[in-house]
Amino acid sequence: MSREILLRAEHLYKTYKTGKKGREVHAVSDVSLEIHKGETLALVGESGCGKSTLGRTLIHMLPATAGSVIYKDMDIAAMSDKQFKPYRSKMQMIFQDPYASLDPRMTVRDIIAEPLETYKLCGSREKTTEAVLRLMEAVGIPGEFLNRYPHQFSGGQRQRIGIARAIALRPELIICDEPVSALDVSVQSQVLNLLKDIQKDYDLTYLFIGHDLSVVNFMADRVCVMFLGCICEVADKDELYAKPLHPYSEFLLDAIPIADPHRRNRKRKVISGEIPSPMDLPKGCCFCTRCPYATEECRSIRPELRDIGGRKVACHHPLEGENR
Ligand code: SF4
Repeated sequence: MSREILLRAEHLYKTYKTGKKGREVHAVSDVSLEIHKGETLALVGESGCGKSTLGRTLIHMLPATAGSVIYKDMDIAAMSDKQFKPYRSKMQMIFQDPYASLDPRMTVRDIIAEPLETYKLCGSREKTTEAVLRLMEAVGIPGEFLNRYPHQFSGGQRQRIGIARAIALRPELIICDEPVSALDVSVQSQVLNLLKDIQKDYDLTYLFIGHDLSVVNFMADRVCVMFLGCICEVADKDELYAKPLHPYSEFLLDAIPIADPHRRNRKRKVISGEIPSPMDLPKGCCFCTRCPYATEECRSIRPELRDIGGRKVACHHPLEGENR
């Protein structure tokens, strides 16, 4: 796997103002992250931990509050929408809900043609339609369905249409935002296999947002674990699944159902404690109110994301050796 860096976030923050008093919600907090060319980097964590906000902020769909996103030596986070326009085609998104993400009044032809026409890539209407037919073939939608509307397709087929639209501009990076979580289990693997095939054929890099760790296990090369807008751990998938170093990674992985009947009855780790409000983050480690290993240091000093044996971990007392 190439280690060439395609996109790099440096100390990225995203805050929202909410309510009448305009209190700040810290959705993404001091995130530094590298996405390597050609890889699938999975972003995992519980609902509301900031995964989707981070994905959108990385590709300029949301303005960053502070920090940088470096792409081709340029800080795209600092660009206006107009300055970013030449880069937009290189970064696309596949959305979670294939029912809501397609305009019900447009035919499949027009949905997939829209980005091609916006960027005037094909010249004539006939050439655009030919390009749409090639994209439909690439994602397994028969060409005779060209003039059908989204409601005439199943959920899996709609997600294929969303994938065709996302690859139409030949992007380099696609944010896959829980692309199979709204689909029946029976079609999930078909769409995941299509994403893998398309990645090879179109030379794509994925940031794959997910909460189902079995799906992440199938898709990811590396995994980034998030909690409350902060990064806990970034590691190669196999290393993380074999031995998590951050207590929150351990907790997440411990929750995966186990098929082995001999291991099924073992005691799982139970994590208690309140999840802090994103409007009032703890002074120290973001996980300190729930972590069974928290110390006074954890409650007062925020741990830096540091290199431990080739992976990145933000913890004062990582789960190393036999000391736990
Ligand atoms: Fe737990 Fe402390 Fe590590 Fe945070 S820094 S995860 S509270 S041990």
